[in-house]
Amino acid sequence: MGLTNVHGVAGLYRLARREVHGRVLDGKALAADIRQALKESLAASSRPPPGLATVVVGDDPASATYVASKHRACQEVGIASFDRQLPANATQEDLEECLAELAADRRVSGILLQLPLADWLDARAALERIGPDKDVDGLTWRSAGRLATGSPALVPCTPAAIMTILDHYGIEIEGRRAVVVGRSSLVGRPVASLLEQRNATVTVCHSRTRALAHDCQQADILIAAAGKPRLIGPEHVKPGAVVIDVGIHRTEDGLCGDVVLEAVQDKVGAITPVPGGVGPMTIASLLVNTVQAHHQQAAAVAEVGGDRRG
Ligand code: NAD
Repeated sequence: MGLTNVHGVAGLYRLARREVHGRVLDGKALAADIRQALKESLAASSRPPPGLATVVVGDDPASATYVASKHRACQEVGIASFDRQLPANATQEDLEECLAELAADRRVSGILLQLPLADWLDARAALERIGPDKDVDGLTWRSAGRLATGSPALVPCTPAAIMTILDHYGIEIEGRRAVVVGRSSLVGRPVASLLEQRNATVTVCHSRTRALAHDCQQADILIAAAGKPRLIGPEHVKPGAVVIDVGIHRTEDGLCGDVVLEAVQDKVGAITPVPGGVGPMTIASLLVNTVQAHHQQAAAVAEVGGDRRG
């Protein structure tokens, strides 16, 4: 059984490769493997634990649920977590002050600003307060620039999750044709860049693409990240393609993705389900990024001879 690296942390966590069963790329099981590896490695360390700080503005229940699940995941593996809640009427100054404080706090390895923000807040300016070394969502200009130029960086969690799924299930990327549906700075663009850096031939489709089904049919690897429920059906899928469904939508019938799973499952080579695919892996990637940021910060401190913690 082969071993693969968790995306972005070569050599840190090497996990046994998983087999594809019933054409399902099980993100939930892979995320559990990663959490277990992190837990064991953190339990074996005598250093202070990594810390993740989340910052939420306002009291949106969906944001509260997402953030609570991130704190639970931290607790499970031994990452300290810090929860900053700002009132809905917080000003840009309040928000930036809070982020600057966390950026200066040595207990905090990574900072996650829950997006989207209210219209009157400037998310871009706020993110820059985090700084690239604690940018576990990979959203600052520096992180995005490093990723785009193929330099080591903290990679946004969902793109990192997608690459880790492909690698751990042994899906060949080099030389294959990948189609990414969606070009957001959070998912579509960075994953297209990562696939291209791994020598896939990449096409990016978006809301103005004229022949979506035709373009998608060329894909050996199809990444559906349009944020449109059940947009992708059998007419978009080449037989045997690997399909990664990033979308997640709450409907009257429960959760669904951007792909009509039941209509394509006999046609695909493998597919991530919703729920249980990219979602749990995105949280696992956040934990990995936090630990990676922690290691990088410790290495930087040691390099300037300032590490007095032994
Ligand atoms: P977004 O709205 O920022 O971007 C959507 C992109 O899809 C845009 O670039 C747009 O041009 C393209 N698009 C829209 N309609 C299209 C169409 N009909 N045909 C082709 N392209 C189309 O969304 P996002 O932040 O990139 O997220 C995409 C989806 O992934 C959402 O459903 C989101 O909830 C989900 N998501 C899931 C996770 C997870 O952990 N599972 C994480 C992040 C995002």
